[in-house]
Amino acid sequence: MKKVDMIVKCPFFYTMEGDGVGFKQNVAMLVDGGKILDFVEADIVDTEYKADEVLNMENHAIFPGFIDAHMHTFDDILRGLAQDTNNWMMYGVQPFENVTTEEEQFIGSKVGIIEAIKAGTTTLGDYGRIMDKTCAFIDKAGARGNIAQLVRSARFRVYNPGELYEFDDEAGEVSIKANLELFEKWHGKAGGRIRILFGPQGVDFISPEQLLKVQKIVKEKKTKLHMHVQQGDRETYQIVKRYGKRPTALLEEMDLLDKNLIAVHLTDCTDEEAAVIAKHGAGMIVNPASIGIIDGIVCPSVAFQEAGGNCALGSDQLPGNNCHNIIHEMKNVCLFNKIKYQNPEIMPAWRALRMATIEGAKAIGMDDITGSLEAGKQADFIAIRLDVPSMMPVYTYPMRNIVPNLVYSARGHEIDLSVVDGKIIMKGRKLVNIDEEECLEEVRKYPDIIGQKASREFFEIHGTNAIFMEEDKL
Ligand SMILES: [Zn+2]
Repeated sequence: MKKVDMIVKCPFFYTMEGDGVGFKQNVAMLVDGGKILDFVEADIVDTEYKADEVLNMENHAIFPGFIDAHMHTFDDILRGLAQDTNNWMMYGVQPFENVTTEEEQFIGSKVGIIEAIKAGTTTLGDYGRIMDKTCAFIDKAGARGNIAQLVRSARFRVYNPGELYEFDDEAGEVSIKANLELFEKWHGKAGGRIRILFGPQGVDFISPEQLLKVQKIVKEKKTKLHMHVQQGDRETYQIVKRYGKRPTALLEEMDLLDKNLIAVHLTDCTDEEAAVIAKHGAGMIVNPASIGIIDGIVCPSVAFQEAGGNCALGSDQLPGNNCHNIIHEMKNVCLFNKIKYQNPEIMPAWRALRMATIEGAKAIGMDDITGSLEAGKQADFIAIRLDVPSMMPVYTYPMRNIVPNLVYSARGHEIDLSVVDGKIIMKGRKLVNIDEEECLEEVRKYPDIIGQKASREFFEIHGTNAIFMEEDKL
């Protein structure tokens, strides 16, 4: 008998190996030393292997853990406060964001991270200003973090329409230094579960000199640049006015469109610009629900993929999405593109599942460790119940409906088990390392406090949601 740490028994494995979904059955998965050791025939596993932990997932299907590649959990304390409005920043989120403290933001982050893990996310691409505590919380939860710290030199203040952002190079330096400190403290830590990226907010929020400086650090440190790219007509306006060309052309000229870049949104990119970015080897993160709610736009992820690029999914933030649920994002990326192209074949369920797993891992440069269930990779996987209404009935012949059911019907509560690095982080819908109740209790008192602080500016700005309140529509 050979001894391994864990044996996973399940009727269906979706490994994501190859170009499809890597379907396997009549096998068991062996996990040892935090990694996937091998798949063996199900009927010989009991006679040839023993393990400390044997998972009998007989009514389940096993998938790689999902990757939520772009999140701003610092905004999660403001869930549901900024949707259904034009000028999301000014009319929506600003009155609330202006009054929240770092403590309040962190308390919101914890709830958002719990929500994401419970919906099957094992790799969290969080991005914000104060990330040290967030790294510690992700570490404690046992999840994987691909974390970016915000780098920016544009002053935080209200700008009039058409006004160019005012750069403060000193503030830019402070933010670069903070990103470096986070890198030194956390990169490769938590047993390798935390990676630190560098996060310039966008080419419009920093001088070209400082952006090139960050790029140099990224290359020296062998990490990645995680940056919003052409994220709306506002960015395009700023860059055209300042430099006489569009953001993608400027980034190309600056040699920033390379494999070190993870480009977020591409909201205002033409299909041709998206293709240029893909051909230079950068990855993309598309956030379908967030950009749908904030801007009413379907970003050009299909054009990016057709040009050969890898694209990940992201949930962005909660005052304008309003959830961290990659199952929703899979469904949204399919539906939105079917409608955009008036073509039901344009984005099938299996492709969205690849975006949430292996293609997402490639887009953010983590496919060496996660995104598929293959020997030698870290054992990051989830078990999805097939004996709940939203996944039933299960067909296996003449076609399998498990992937379509997951993408178009599941909502997240079907995720029964979550494992990262071969360690169980959620079992039976409960996080094993985090006191969920305590985190939920903590957040309860803040709506009153933040609401009081924000009320004057909320009614003064008199945005859509203030009008909805007055008209009894909320
Ligand atoms: Zn973002």
